[in-house]
Amino acid sequence: MPKSNQPLPAASAAERAGDAVIATLHQAGHAAFRVGGCVRDRLLGRPVQDVDVATAATPEAVQALFPRTYAVGAAFGVVVVHAAEGVDIEVATFREDAEYHDGRRPTAVRFATPEVDARRRDFTINALFYDPATETILDPAHGLDDLARGVLRAIGEPAARFQEDSLRLLRAARFAAELGFALEPATAAALTAEAPGLARVSPERVYAELTRMLTGRDPARAFTLLAEHRLLDHWLPELVAMQGMPQPPEFHPEGDVWEHTLALLRLLRTPNTALAWAALLHDVGKPPTHEWRKGRDAFPNHARTGAELAADILRRFHAPGAVIDAASAMVASHMTFRDVRDMRAATLRRFLGGPVFADELELHRLDCQASHGDCANYVFLLDTLARYAAVPLLPPPLLQGRDLIAAGITPGPRFRPLLDEARELQLNGELTDRDHALRWLAEHLG
Ligand code: ATP
Ligand code: MG
Repeated sequence: MPKSNQPLPAASAAERAGDAVIATLHQAGHAAFRVGGCVRDRLLGRPVQDVDVATAATPEAVQALFPRTYAVGAAFGVVVVHAAEGVDIEVATFREDAEYHDGRRPTAVRFATPEVDARRRDFTINALFYDPATETILDPAHGLDDLARGVLRAIGEPAARFQEDSLRLLRAARFAAELGFALEPATAAALTAEAPGLARVSPERVYAELTRMLTGRDPARAFTLLAEHRLLDHWLPELVAMQGMPQPPEFHPEGDVWEHTLALLRLLRTPNTALAWAALLHDVGKPPTHEWRKGRDAFPNHARTGAELAADILRRFHAPGAVIDAASAMVASHMTFRDVRDMRAATLRRFLGGPVFADELELHRLDCQASHGDCANYVFLLDTLARYAAVPLLPPPLLQGRDLIAAGITPGPRFRPLLDEARELQLNGELTDRDHALRWLAEHLG
């Protein structure tokens, strides 16, 4: 098996914790290595947060050696060792996955050697084994060559590997985008051929992968690959409909709805999950609302339709409620920005004081930059926010129900409209303090 003495740079806290686990396994006479993404990322100079260990020790032997373990996947040979405060290390026994019947989980596992263990892993660059004691790398799948050349290659026969676990189709797009790697041609061809297998993957696993792509280093490349290899067809047909959907070139010199979306994704910088999904889905309402009107492409009320679609899509993936609410609110309001300079102060303050306004504003900025480039509304809103910096955007109401009762009005249908009017005047700056508001009320009633 190929070996290398390529030195690894200094270890992070997680890697030191992993090495302590490995040292304990070595002392008990078991072969053990750092394995997978942590070796790959260390060689690429990327930060390493999670360390996985592969060992010849059986799960029972691992559990006997460490005081704090969780046998999460003992049947698959995986034991989590609680190595230090906040540091859990996954320790997996070298194994061979016997057979897959459903494209998701092996039906049986057999314990094995690193050479055999490498064959159940997905990509050559993910099958590197590093021994910290001898500082050597075992490279049974020839991953070092691919790592040096920037190539993502499935281990063994690509189509068979994607059939075993169809989530690997998405992992391929994620690693290619995240690492900036090229897909090896046979791996790329198998992606398209095996794309229908994605229908068998659980929505939660698909969502987790897509979210990592969206919040990762190059979401535009990830989604370009997904589209190119037909990996969106089953789970996100709404995105397929955006491809080739024309829009007016005076607002969108960058191209069709899909090209605009990719241009926006290219501008994302460390977005939170909801903003990332809103970026992907902000124009998802365009295809279903498309009309040819007054000699050009139009999308009446596409923000409202899009917000409903975005919520449907995120529910399809069983996304957390907070993500669904925030992302669909961002999609719903993305066209409201057109009108901000004509809004009354009260309306504007309510908009600026909304629960996800910071993300809505960021989406608006990206939307402009990814199309016509006109940032006038964005600058206007920054100025407005600066003007309100010293006062709360949505201060407590000057008048409350008890003030109306004190003024002699009996609780009833007159209450709400009066309170709403007072609130509107307050936010418009026409009622400045409580005395002013009480005088207004007296005049109003008198
Ligand atoms: P990252 O943590 O950045 O996603 P990683 O390579 O560490 O990358 P993990 O999901 O943490 O990925 O898995 C650790 C290792 O386990 C991988 O490097 C790979 O060898 C193996 N592995 C994980 N998931 C799969 C899978 N679905 N099919 C085959 N091997 C896998
Ligand atoms: Mg990992």
